[in-house]
Amino acid sequence: MAPPQPCRVLRCCSCRLFQAHQVKKSVKWTCKACGEKQSFLRAYGEGSGADCRRHVQKLNLLQGQVSELPLRSLEETVSAGEEENVGHQQRQGAEGSWEGAMESCPAGYSHIL
Ligand SMILES: [Zn+2]
Repeated sequence: MAPPQPCRVLRCCSCRLFQAHQVKKSVKWTCKACGEKQSFLRAYGEGSGADCRRHVQKLNLLQGQVSELPLRSLEETVSAGEEENVGHQQRQGAEGSWEGAMESCPAGYSHIL
């Protein structure tokens, strides 16, 4: 039996989503949600894959609660003037709730949850 791969919790600088990534030698990593390539800055947690996934869920939940108000008011302001733009509305839907963001993620994202 191989020892479990160590993982750490990283946060995307673009979409601000927390996610678990296996520890690698490279400092470069790619966001599983938005695909943003970035350098490793800090780990929000380290441990086994299961530990990190639990931590990620907690952090994203907390962040969702904290950012609920500004996100909601922003959505109201934007959607008032841009209702015809369907493509833009879909993006807003994903940003409006963390649940929506996860559902609209590429397939590769689901396996870390
Ligand atoms: Zn991202």
